[in-house]
Amino acid sequence: MQQHGDQYIGGEWVASLGADTIPVLNPATEEVIASVPAGTAEDVDAAVRAARAAARSWGATSPTERLAHLTRLRDGLAARQQEIAETVVAELGSPIGFATAVQAALPLGVAGSYLDILAGYEFTEQVGNSTVYAEPAGVVAAITPWNYPLHQVVAKVVPALAAGCTVVLKPAEDTPLVARLFARIVHEAGFPAGVFNLVTGVGAVAGAALAAHPEVDLVSFTGSTAVGAKIAETAGGGIKRVALELGGKSANVVLPGADLARAVNVNVGNVFANSGQTCTAWTRLLVHQDQYEEAVAIAAKAAAKYVPGDPASPDTRLGPVVNAKQRDRVRGYIETAVAEGARVVAGGPEAPEGLATGFYVRPTVLADVAPDATVAQEEIFGPVLSILSYRDEAHALEIANGTAYGLAGGVWAADNETAVAFARGMDTGQIDINGGRFNPLAPFGGYKHSGVGRELGRHGLEEFLQPKSLQF
Ligand code: NAD
Repeated sequence: MQQHGDQYIGGEWVASLGADTIPVLNPATEEVIASVPAGTAEDVDAAVRAARAAARSWGATSPTERLAHLTRLRDGLAARQQEIAETVVAELGSPIGFATAVQAALPLGVAGSYLDILAGYEFTEQVGNSTVYAEPAGVVAAITPWNYPLHQVVAKVVPALAAGCTVVLKPAEDTPLVARLFARIVHEAGFPAGVFNLVTGVGAVAGAALAAHPEVDLVSFTGSTAVGAKIAETAGGGIKRVALELGGKSANVVLPGADLARAVNVNVGNVFANSGQTCTAWTRLLVHQDQYEEAVAIAAKAAAKYVPGDPASPDTRLGPVVNAKQRDRVRGYIETAVAEGARVVAGGPEAPEGLATGFYVRPTVLADVAPDATVAQEEIFGPVLSILSYRDEAHALEIANGTAYGLAGGVWAADNETAVAFARGMDTGQIDINGGRFNPLAPFGGYKHSGVGRELGRHGLEEFLQPKSLQF
């Protein structure tokens, strides 16, 4: 077991000022594989001071200079792809195939996309008799969750550094190891001391201290809506900017005339990827009442191909969920669904057969789910798909928009025009039309309780900039 006692502050690994530690568990074996410091408010203060001390000089560097550093960072991510994937398998339980193709490769792609964006970005603009400079927002607090533990770090830290901001990162308790690996890659890329800092710790202690620190200018948070609301309140009191990427309860709407089998099969893959721990997962499949039983049968058949197993094995498509609390929560939601009248057509709340150890949940498909059922309203964050039926397009739109969230979605129709017309009525941030692919350059973020602000692409860079106008 690796026992880490240090934080990355001011360009070096320094001993945490606290004595408490956080155990890191492998969710497939339930073994403790490492421990990291449970950072204190003093650790956070040291990290924020280091970031503040570096802010002016880093903010004054040219985009070309930042590009050189970020290119080395991207190259470091490229060189460590296998180590990144193996670390995510060990601490999160993503199957190795998914960990390689998504958990390791996506952040590499996102980092690469920011090299292009930075190279082409106009940091000054002429508006009438004014020259407008896009200046860095200052010291950024980045607080991230565990489900895409490197992607969420890269989607904040890389554009923040590209904008000329300095950063203190507080990663999730469950997945600090890939964040520590990222800090080593940043270090090897030769960034000036204090430009990037890492403090591991418990959300209510280190996270809260970071969000409240008076020297932090902007808090970029990804996680639950409940914690996001708290952070926005704290940040509001300190007049800090906030960017919030929160939960989702996304609808995939299959309109009559669409390729039903493809739409349902893609939905099953979408919702079981990463054991359902994806904020954009299409957890509600909406099908016309005339095609409902056909869709349910297709989904049940597709679900049978997802057999939970050892995430380290290349044949495994579905690993465990991240921890025991999450496993119990997901199983509890399935029980609630049944109590509220849902029909289990695949999976169920029981432990999967032959897996006595590990935080496993049976991949589950629920039919006859009412739009106001608990599982159709609340984020489950596990491999659970609810299938709902609608009477006509207006009813489908009412159901699709009938939750507090608005992060993602899908629309399938006989043609793109019909699908786009429906999608324009959805209160949600990104919608895939007839199976459109994820685009890392497109703005990513939510409507309603799914968040404030956008990540990725040019919009993601601009989250970390602020304009200054000089008049002539
Ligand atoms: P969480 O909100 O509990 O934790 C997220 C981060 O916030 C962690 O680093 C945690 O330590 C920290 N934190 C917790 N309490 C805090 C506090 N009081 N002050 C400051 N920081 C605090 O969420 P989670 O359990 O890590 O992740 C699951 C949730 O995140 C789900 O609801 C999911 O939808 C959401 N999520 C959203 C996105 C998105 O992009 N919209 C992406 C991934 C996850």
